[in-house]
Amino acid sequence: MMLFDRQGNLTVSCLIQYPDSDYQLLREKALECKRCHLREGASQVVMGKGAINKKIMFIGEGPGADEDRRGEPFVGRAGQLLNRIFAAVNIKREEVYITNMVKCRPPGNRNPSSGEVAACAPILAAEIKLIDPKVIVPLGSVALKNLIDEEASITRMRGKWIKRGKYFFLPTFHPSYLLRNERMKKTAWYDFRLIKKAIDRIEELQQTGQLD
Ligand code: SF4
Repeated sequence: MMLFDRQGNLTVSCLIQYPDSDYQLLREKALECKRCHLREGASQVVMGKGAINKKIMFIGEGPGADEDRRGEPFVGRAGQLLNRIFAAVNIKREEVYITNMVKCRPPGNRNPSSGEVAACAPILAAEIKLIDPKVIVPLGSVALKNLIDEEASITRMRGKWIKRGKYFFLPTFHPSYLLRNERMKKTAWYDFRLIKKAIDRIEELQQTGQLD
């Protein structure tokens, strides 16, 4: 599936509607979700986490074992690497929002299927609608393909800005890929420096009232 069409419109309806509802309600509704069979094998629903007013979202593929146990995204080895990359380019984790395409752990850490991504998409769509990000960072191939382009290659598209409607996408490697491919860390560092520049620009626009 693709969550966005070429014009940057969401292709699925949101789990809850804004501005009639708030993030807390979305979180409560998501945590009780049983819309697909992934919930049966998972300990809990792992909702996204972070700043909902900073207009930047990182989107991975799904929770792993550590995330499933702790109920938070990106807290295992890949999350720790993400923290180190953030620190290296001076991004504060609490100032960005981090989530996944699917909120329940796929068995054995396999990639989520497109049916599972589609089942979970109304939650992600609602997160996007509420946060209204300027910049979305797809972490890895699963997120990139299911967000904007089913044919996309992360190797070819990483580090490049892609505009869809009002959204700017900057795909980069998933940190778990970087754990397996040490030599690509330097390449990813380049991407994260671009992301940091975008965060600073958004901050500047927000402070001068040029962005809500
Ligand atoms: S993966 Fe998503 S759609 Fe499936 S049960 Fe979990 S929260 Fe619901």
